[in-house]
Amino acid sequence: MQRTARLKPLAALLLSASLLTGVAHAQLSPAPAASANAPAGTTAEARKANIVIIGTGGTIAGAGAAATNTAAYQSAVVPVDKIIASVPEISKIANVKGEQVFQIGSESFNNERLIKLAKRVSELLKQPDVDGIVITHGTDTIEETAYFLNLTLKSDKPVVVVGSMRPGTALGADGALNLYDAVLVASNPASKGKGTLVVLNDEIQTGRDVTKTNTFKVETFRSPFGPLGYVVEGRTLYFRLPARPHTTQTEFDIDKIDKLPEVAVVYAYGNMNPAAIDAAVKSGAKAIIFDATGNGSVGDYMVEPLKAARAKGVFIVRASRTGSGVVIRNGEQPDDKYDWIVTDDQIAQKARILMALALTKTNDPKALQEIFWKY
Ligand code: ASP
Repeated sequence: MQRTARLKPLAALLLSASLLTGVAHAQLSPAPAASANAPAGTTAEARKANIVIIGTGGTIAGAGAAATNTAAYQSAVVPVDKIIASVPEISKIANVKGEQVFQIGSESFNNERLIKLAKRVSELLKQPDVDGIVITHGTDTIEETAYFLNLTLKSDKPVVVVGSMRPGTALGADGALNLYDAVLVASNPASKGKGTLVVLNDEIQTGRDVTKTNTFKVETFRSPFGPLGYVVEGRTLYFRLPARPHTTQTEFDIDKIDKLPEVAVVYAYGNMNPAAIDAAVKSGAKAIIFDATGNGSVGDYMVEPLKAARAKGVFIVRASRTGSGVVIRNGEQPDDKYDWIVTDDQIAQKARILMALALTKTNDPKALQEIFWKY
């Protein structure tokens, strides 16, 4: 299909968006945040929160060739200011300002981009005239970015990561409501001190636990423990709190992190090839998250390659590819004997984030294990 034909609806979207001014460029002036659980649109203008919306790309910035393209489209093409302008209802609930940091699919996030984004968020959070941050983000790795921010930002102010499963051009597009809800959540004082949040599909999830579970459905985001709350009819409703330390309670500070060590994830399956372990070691990985079967079980033919990697100084962390549940230390494998680590309940892609951060603090395997049990 021709690129011009594919982008036609986008052009229409941009044109209509450009007619709506004053939202994306609203100046941020100090103002108290809206009261907790206040319905949208009922708070006085003077009580609107100041929210910066950082654009990074993803489907929420995507456009398809036709309205029926709900799952086949080009992601990361619509600038954040245009996305904001296409939801004029937002200006009734907050003073918002857009800032484009990236325009990428979230599968293209790497350590450098993650650090750059987190440092910018940290800078903005220090501004007295910023009450909260919303980050528009692709859904593929939203859970990794949210977990990284959850562990490294040093502020109680709300930070909400939001995406969409359908581009703005699609029938049943979910981005506009998700963005509106994200701004609502970020504006609400009840969201303070809850760590980095992820808002999609009417739900507020903690950045620690949320994960994408379906390739195309809007109800793809799940936590094994359920959402923290709902957003409905302009109300932010919390029902539970994150139990693990986050943001101001952690030992990781994004202002002091300029580089992350290489941590590889190796997926386990029947008849897997041990060469994957050697490749990770040769490429300079400081740790391997072994995304094992069941409760972190390791095939008999994989034990020696993993022990050999550990003998070369590479940390071995047993995770479970089941997607939930706790990997028991010294259960399926003698971790004490092999000097291996278990992830607690953390899934492999989040364990990679935590291990990379942990390695900026210590090389002591016991301390590394404690970090997994703590966060
Ligand atoms: N590949 C896209 C991304 O993660 C998918 C999405 O945003 O839903 O950027």
